[in-house]
Amino acid sequence: MASSKPAAAAGRCPTCGAPALAAFRPFCSKRCADVDLHRWFSGAFAIPAVEADDPDDDDAESPRLPTRSAEDD
Ligand SMILES: [Zn+2]
Repeated sequence: MASSKPAAAAGRCPTCGAPALAAFRPFCSKRCADVDLHRWFSGAFAIPAVEADDPDDDDAESPRLPTRSAEDD
């Protein structure tokens, strides 16, 4: 059985589920790609963890570190 499913070669659009086009892979159109992009950005902005500070700012000492000496009294 040879491959006889050219439509499934590009997969499906993750935005609307339609057969994706090679030109807009993995989406079916530029519009769907844009929609997913916006969604991706929204999700990225919602992540408060991977927000790294300035790489130039060499912060050796962290003022937010928990002082264990305070409890040890
Ligand atoms: Zn689509």
